[in-house]
Amino acid sequence: MTQNTKICFSCCNNKRLSEEHVIPQALGGKLSAWIYCVDCNSQFGAEIDSELIKNIQFFGTALDIKRVRGKNKPYDVALAKNGTKLTFDGREFKRKKPIVKIEKDGDKIKYVDVTARSEGELRKICSNIKKKYDLFDEIKSFEEKHPGPTDTVTEYEFDNEQIRRCVAKIAYSLLCVKLPSDQVLSNAFDEVRNYIRFGAKNHLSSANYVNTGFMTDGIRPLHKIHIRLNRRKNLVIGFVCLFGTFRYTTLLSREFRSALDWPGIDHTIDPITSKFIEGNPSFRAPELDISDVISPKHSKQQVLRALAKGHEIISNYHSSHKFLKIETE
Ligand SMILES: [Zn+2]
Repeated sequence: MTQNTKICFSCCNNKRLSEEHVIPQALGGKLSAWIYCVDCNSQFGAEIDSELIKNIQFFGTALDIKRVRGKNKPYDVALAKNGTKLTFDGREFKRKKPIVKIEKDGDKIKYVDVTARSEGELRKICSNIKKKYDLFDEIKSFEEKHPGPTDTVTEYEFDNEQIRRCVAKIAYSLLCVKLPSDQVLSNAFDEVRNYIRFGAKNHLSSANYVNTGFMTDGIRPLHKIHIRLNRRKNLVIGFVCLFGTFRYTTLLSREFRSALDWPGIDHTIDPITSKFIEGNPSFRAPELDISDVISPKHSKQQVLRALAKGHEIISNYHSSHKFLKIETE
């Protein structure tokens, strides 16, 4: 072991570590720690973080959240009425591609209709057309805007294999930050470490809309991680909620033995203000069994209601438009 290496909480080898955001910073996470080696970190980034981020970062864009680095990524939407593709950058809608229509009568140009995303782009397209067709007429232009409220449709997934592993990593990473290393590195957490790295036939995480209502305050699109020890059953259970909308549970350990009862471990952040929010220290999360964690019995209606509520919170935070239309399969 050289001075530059430390133990990685994922592969458990002594390696060079890199900085890990407990909640991806692309989603507004701020808490970070040097807990995983460069290799594990980049594997996670490419394999599981990217899947979660790809699907739900448009909520961050819509809320215009603060990020440690990088910019919120504009996302594509389709206008509900005619399917026109637009992008939304958190402030305004823009056409995804310029539209150029040229109508000819034989070799002669009858008319040219250009819809561009900016004046600069319009000038460029027009001057190219003029050059190509030897036109001398001035091209008249007018501005088209898509201000809110705009009825748009966008699709996302919030529950699949990679997202479940990513959620397990989010909860496990907080555990790495909060618990003494020898406890985290004990065999009790081997199963979840392997699940995060390689996946497993039987999932340890799931989207969960039963017994997770406490994870959202119903007002703000907060990110929250809560970890509860059930000492009687030796279970360590992680609860994760993103944007006050997407709620998950993960089985961090089914064989954790501790002489001490811990208080719940909590981490809550407002991704819009980047402020941490103190939890109530005497709060006790519901005591769940393994099946409650990995195969919750929630109805489709229950999930849809919770998503609708979450979307309402997000829309209210961004009052200039209602950008979400919920159609869940
Ligand atoms: Zn590693």
